[in-house]
Amino acid sequence: MRRQRHAKIVATVGPASASPDKLRELFFAGVDTFRLNFSHGTHEDHARVHAAIRALEKDVGRPIGILQDLQGPKIRIGTLKDGALVLSEGETIRFVLEGTNGDKSAIPLPHVEIFEAVLPGQELLIDDGRVRVRTTSRGGNSITAEVVTGGTISNRKGVNLPGTILDISPLTPKDRADLAFGLELGVDWVALSFVQRPSDVIDGRILIGERAGLMVKIEKPSAFEHIEDIVRLSDAVMVARGDLGVEIPPEEVPGRQKELVRICRLAVKPVIIATQMLDSMVSAPTPTRAEASDVATAIYDGADAVMLSAESASGRYPVEAVAMMDRIIKKTEQDKAYRSIITALKPEIEESPPHAVASAAGDLAQAIHAPCIVAYTSSGTTASRIARTRPDVGILAVTPDESVARRLCLLWGAHSVRSEDVRSYEEMVEKAEAHARAESFAQAPESIVVVAGVPFGMAGTTNNLRVVQMRPGERSRP
Ligand code: PGA
Ligand code: MN
Repeated sequence: MRRQRHAKIVATVGPASASPDKLRELFFAGVDTFRLNFSHGTHEDHARVHAAIRALEKDVGRPIGILQDLQGPKIRIGTLKDGALVLSEGETIRFVLEGTNGDKSAIPLPHVEIFEAVLPGQELLIDDGRVRVRTTSRGGNSITAEVVTGGTISNRKGVNLPGTILDISPLTPKDRADLAFGLELGVDWVALSFVQRPSDVIDGRILIGERAGLMVKIEKPSAFEHIEDIVRLSDAVMVARGDLGVEIPPEEVPGRQKELVRICRLAVKPVIIATQMLDSMVSAPTPTRAEASDVATAIYDGADAVMLSAESASGRYPVEAVAMMDRIIKKTEQDKAYRSIITALKPEIEESPPHAVASAAGDLAQAIHAPCIVAYTSSGTTASRIARTRPDVGILAVTPDESVARRLCLLWGAHSVRSEDVRSYEEMVEKAEAHARAESFAQAPESIVVVAGVPFGMAGTTNNLRVVQMRPGERSRP
């Protein structure tokens, strides 16, 4: 089983997709990595989905990525009298730190950091910015505000504070418990929400170590102040346009998206474009043409992956949404303008041998029209280096490490297989041929390009570039 596209699809699992049968359908429709959203569901729910994906993986014989998305310090109001409140423009309201069944003079906001940091004149956006209020004064544990845009607010709705840097860790006690649980399950990626500073990434790394890839979600304007450092310290990036688009004006989102994709491509970190990509497919079997265009834009930009949230988690058409994304990606990658647009970004040549060998592999493969590059990669780095220039050729990443094979399910162009290390040069050539044949990348008499490090099985030794002409017949099994 091999995808006929370079960019990857991430789909969020939820009530609409959590059964083993649906997960299987979604995989065959095109999902490369499944996202478990820890803002919802119990540990038992996530454990069940995790087990179903691992069983599916075994059954289909392909690695499948699993991304644990931690809720992070999502700020919410508490509970209200009768569950909801109507706020009208111009009205004065008050937030309090504690309490339940709040009314307009005592809306519970159980986050002490806000009461410490917010200043008069700053905005609080409730329910994805549908309701806006501006603070007028702050007491010890109360905040007075004036309603700027009215509307109905209800229990536990989210609150965004775009203008305020909160002294808040991206890992709440709930996140720490969820993280321990996820690492125990064996997730491949962990996403930290609302990252604001480089130190947030370091805090995450201390807990995660190398047990999973560390992804940062960029959804706070404050993250852009040290964005290069944040990207450098992480293993992958999500452009989380939902919260980001509430915290910054809509017209600033496209530019920020392009900036992040560019920074990540140059830093060789996989980047995912997320949220509302095919939003109308939550309730309709086809997307708007504007949504199709949004997915295509991410592909032209060279993003590694595009993501579905509510469309696959709770929508009526999860399988159709994945299939649609798959079709849009393929069509875009076949467009005649695609190659010139995607290769317009020229990463600087890095001088160390492993990097130079990896980037030369792409040029060599394209020059001799090789259908694929077989990359022996123990940490996945060589595969990422090859993908960096977005060569027009398959990248067959062979790794002895199952978790690396799974993490590569997020990387542009990578088709990963798990296989024991080779021990000799002859074995390197034979196995490369066998993998290329078994994965339907190449057949005799085509030539493929092989990238490896000698001595074999040591990370960071990439120093070998070899052209191998495929020989006919079943010479050896991978
Ligand atoms: P969320 O993150 O779905 O966890 O909020 C994505 C986003 O904010 O876009
Ligand atoms: Mn978010």
